[in-house]
Amino acid sequence: MAKNLFYPLALAGVRELAPYQPGKPIEELEREYGVENAIKLASNENPLGASPLVTEAAYRALKDISRYPDGSGYALKAALSSYLGISADQITLGNGSSDLLEFVARVFVSHEHEVVYSQYCFAMYPLFTKILGAQGQVVPAKNFGHDLEAMARAINKQTRLVYIANPNNPTGTWLSADELEAFLSHIPTHVLVVLDEAYYEYVGNHINYPNSLAWLKIYPNLIITRTFSKAYGLASLRVGYGLSHRDLADLMNRVRPPFNVNSLALVAATVALQDQDHIQRSQIINRDGMAQLALAFTTMNLDYIPSAGNFVAVDVGEGGKVYEALLRHGIIVRPMVSYDLPRHLRVTVGQKDENTRFIQALAAVLEELR
Ligand SMILES: *Cc1c(COP(=O)(O)O)cnc(C)c1O
Repeated sequence: MAKNLFYPLALAGVRELAPYQPGKPIEELEREYGVENAIKLASNENPLGASPLVTEAAYRALKDISRYPDGSGYALKAALSSYLGISADQITLGNGSSDLLEFVARVFVSHEHEVVYSQYCFAMYPLFTKILGAQGQVVPAKNFGHDLEAMARAINKQTRLVYIANPNNPTGTWLSADELEAFLSHIPTHVLVVLDEAYYEYVGNHINYPNSLAWLKIYPNLIITRTFSKAYGLASLRVGYGLSHRDLADLMNRVRPPFNVNSLALVAATVALQDQDHIQRSQIINRDGMAQLALAFTTMNLDYIPSAGNFVAVDVGEGGKVYEALLRHGIIVRPMVSYDLPRHLRVTVGQKDENTRFIQALAAVLEELR
């Protein structure tokens, strides 16, 4: 990289950071590679898009964009409160659930503290830890997933926060209610546990997946985060939420910038919650697509990591090369080198025809590279 003028002035934690690599946008691929009809299976977006009811409501809300949004998010919190059966003062709204991951760290973590997370964890956990100058404790994964026993052992007096994603992105691994409850019951109350359930709606009936909401009454140091970006199909509007003890929500609301969720997002999320048929259709497409991909990987003799999300990590040998070659076929997936998984690609489950195109291109590419 060219010499950065301000590098010596930047905080030590920030100097350690590499810029986050988002999935390549479709337009960029088409421009750079001169391909048409490219498909993107790289960012775990819902291939069905948002509910049509949502786009209509957001369109109607456009007439009021000159007004600041409702900074308290009253209507969305009321809708979540009745849908989830949880008090509105236990809900914190975020500009995506990433906001919540950051708020909780901002409330509790400084350079004197440690944050525990797993190898192969979601990229935001080390990001927020390092920005705050805190020490990240990376616990080696077990079978690509969280090793909760080792994570509990990594906690010490300096630890303020543990991040856990269930299911985990980018690996798709998930934790059972029993494992998680055994973990929670051993965690001292000076440590906040963030349970990131970004893919909650996709989990369906994976064996013994926890009803984590019930734990809020037992473990006041627990915060659950969920999002409208994935199954609800609202990734570009940026809206997510945290569920926690009301005292924790109170503190997170103090660091939350006013108007962090815009009015289109507030309206869209409120309406999205009412259209659970759309969620069901999305779950079915995902279940069928996951089976289609799994069968193809097995047929091609490729190992993949069983996943409870809407994406799957597959071992293709040389992830970077296969990623590049797939781009030339007009298909964007996610390389996993930055996650220290250079053999794998993460593929978002698409609609049937998208999965078919990906499978055919992958077979062709693996043949080319042999
Ligand atoms: C996508 C994702 C999120 C949330 O993203 P937002 O768009 O900010 O809501 C959070 N955690 C994990 C593990 C994710 O994959």
